[in-house]
Amino acid sequence: MELSVLMVPAGAAVLLLLLAVLGKARGGSPNPFGQDARRPPAPLVTEKEARRKVLKQVFSQDKVPSGLDAVVIGSGYGGGASEIAFHSIPIIERAGGAVLTKAPVRSILVNSQGRACGVRVQKGHELVNIYAPVVISDAGIFNTYEQLLPEELRTLPEVRKQLSMVQHGVGGFSVFIGLRGSKAELGLEAKNFYIYRDNNFSEAFLSFLNSSRESAPQKIPLLYIASPSAKDPLWEQRYPGKSTLICLAVAKYEWFEEWKDERTRKRGAEYEDLKQSFVDSMMEAILKFYPQIKDKIEYVSAGTPLTNQHYIAAPRGETYGAQHSISRLQAEVTATIRPQTPVPNLYLTGQDVFLGGFPGALHGALVCASAVLQRNLYVDLVCLSRKIRAKGAKMKN
Ligand SMILES: Cc1cc2nc3c(=O)[nH]c(=O)nc-3n(C[C@H](O)[C@H](O)[C@H](O)COP(=O)(O)OP(=O)(O)OC[C@H]3O[C@@H](n4cnc5c(N)ncnc54)[C@H](O)[C@@H]3O)c2cc1C
Repeated sequence: MELSVLMVPAGAAVLLLLLAVLGKARGGSPNPFGQDARRPPAPLVTEKEARRKVLKQVFSQDKVPSGLDAVVIGSGYGGGASEIAFHSIPIIERAGGAVLTKAPVRSILVNSQGRACGVRVQKGHELVNIYAPVVISDAGIFNTYEQLLPEELRTLPEVRKQLSMVQHGVGGFSVFIGLRGSKAELGLEAKNFYIYRDNNFSEAFLSFLNSSRESAPQKIPLLYIASPSAKDPLWEQRYPGKSTLICLAVAKYEWFEEWKDERTRKRGAEYEDLKQSFVDSMMEAILKFYPQIKDKIEYVSAGTPLTNQHYIAAPRGETYGAQHSISRLQAEVTATIRPQTPVPNLYLTGQDVFLGGFPGALHGALVCASAVLQRNLYVDLVCLSRKIRAKGAKMKN
């Protein structure tokens, strides 16, 4: 046990050292995510090459540090998210593991010594206990500590302390569009677009969050638009003559909360009208940006924070899990919220123990696996990367 306590700080220490050196070299704070990076808006840049170099601001800077954008921007996954499962399941199975779907965990099992020893899973109408020497939860810090831990452990001082250090991230609203036409016909590219309502993003964001749900759709401060099909190298083979667009915005969970206990697709006209008002506003912006798709739209489907809650178990419809705010990324909080939990044999993984977004979740997994295996996997990763590069260079020669 001693070792596992030592190994992860070793990985984290390398990272912190690297960040500290980078920070010092730039003459700033050692923690690039630990500072408020607000500054007055710069003049509008129109020159194409110069614009390429501008890293856009995706989150409100009084809440979320500016460097965090780099972790999320451009990480759209070509081939679709299902590729992740498609490629990782065989690896899990080769190692003797099994992947169960439609098997929600209802609680974490804890033995008489207070150690996690498995999970209780819903199978149809039954509850089935699955025992394991180690339990790793990717369900997020809130679900794990507030829903899955047995009630008597939820009040452990260390659990309460960790929960007091994090907040829920803001909810997400998604619009998925199906189009008639190939990417060439529709002029779609493998790019991400961020469309801002106002130059003062922080103010626009705040004003949006303080709006009523009726006026919010007209005040959406930022839209992310991309064409997942244009990013997918195999798309045209599989779906010739078709394309897709996705458009994402933030939306407050509270605006939709009154329907949280209703069944999906049965939430009634008022909910559908509110949802449609967001869709209409987002579609208006999309059509301004892509006027050529106007007569090519075959399908539009939208998801509210309740959709995220239902399909990805995001407790308040978050897109990026816990809020990765400036306060969350201070050294003390980062050192406190780690894969090891106050319950022996129970570990946390995913974005909540590192950073939001797919790359953040991957690092969460690396840090967690390092803790479980009591080995710094970042060192293995560096060796692997060197090996791959050397092999590539050999093949080139
Ligand atoms: C619409 C949308 C678009 C996004 N686009 C991007 C993007 O372009 N780039 C990017 O970097 N990030 C993007 N993200 C964010 C990205 O998906 C997350 O940051 C990432 O998936 C987090 O990974 P994770 O493993 O920590 O959690 P998740 O991927 O959320 O996985 C947690 C899993 O745990 C499951 N779970 C929860 N509770 C239980 C339970 N009790 N029993 C069983 N299973 C449970 C959930 O169903 C879920 O599958 C997007 C998110 C959304 C919603």
